Amino acid sequence: MENRIDISVLVPALNEEESLDELNERLRTVLDATGETYEIIYINDGSTDRTQMMLEGFRADDPRVKVIEFNRNYGQHMALFAGFERAAGRVMVTIDADLQNPPEEIPRLIKKAEEGYDVVATYRRGRQDSVFRRWPSWIVNKITSRLVGAKLRDYGCMLRAYSRSVIDSINLCQESSSFIPALANTYAKRIVEIEVGHEERKKGVSKYSLFRLLRLNFDLMTGFSLLPIQVIGILGVVIALLGLAFAVFLLVRRLILGPESEGLFTLFAVLFFFMGVQIFALGIIGEYIGRIFQEVRRRPRFIVKKELL
Ligand code: UDP
Ligand code: MG
Repeated sequence: MENRIDISVLVPALNEEESLDELNERLRTVLDATGETYEIIYINDGSTDRTQMMLEGFRADDPRVKVIEFNRNYGQHMALFAGFERAAGRVMVTIDADLQNPPEEIPRLIKKAEEGYDVVATYRRGRQDSVFRRWPSWIVNKITSRLVGAKLRDYGCMLRAYSRSVIDSINLCQESSSFIPALANTYAKRIVEIEVGHEERKKGVSKYSLFRLLRLNFDLMTGFSLLPIQVIGILGVVIALLGLAFAVFLLVRRLILGPESEGLFTLFAVLFFFMGVQIFALGIIGEYIGRIFQEVRRRPRFIVKKELL
């Protein structure tokens, strides 16, 4: 793409009609004040409310606003992939549409990116989400930091900035289940993490159900390492050894104490435990196979219905 501009801001939006007016105003105010050239790319991820109409309105007011409309919902990360493929900025900023990430933080991110960092990650100061979101996310951050090899406090915060080179690398990846912060880190040389504010979601509801969050975390785990499947393998060996030891123990008891029937229920307990582990192991293998299947079919990752670029 020729005629590069300074900043591309990418906003995935799924049914965000209540937040968009304020978001667009605040984004434009903040970006105007930077004095740099910019574009704001909204990706409408299959909204069924007035989102598309509103976005086209913003576009009519200001041609620096671009709109990509999906034919249905493909998820926040696919929306960002579509945006990355079409964005012209030297620095790319991603931000949620629900105003949980204050747009006023963007200049600080851009400044860091212009200092030469490939990824400007952020962690949320006083994260305004329930403990049921914060606590699992703490564990996920620890594990992901190990898997990806880049220690970050908050892999989940999507207010981030990326250099052109990282986005060019990401654009070469055509994977259909991915997690952008982790993917970006695998291509980044210099990563920095800064603190940003975080607001409660005031309008609309979270688009992530428990099930969708779980799916996303499986994408993250399986997409960036074989560790889960290796852990299962090791667990299998350990359990088999424990089972063997238990059998020897029972045999010795039998020889010393003679036949006893009370052991029956212990055996059940042990059996159920083994069964649980086996089913879990199959599940993990299934997660990998399912994703392999998705990738080998090579279906388009998303269908763009309309583009205003
Ligand atoms: N989003 C999206 N597609 C989805 C789910 C979410 O484009 O399938 C957008 C959503 O509109 C918002 C951002 O991704 O701009 C983050 O979603 P949300 O605020 O619901 O997530 P949470 O803050 O609860 O983690
Ligand atoms: Mg949110």
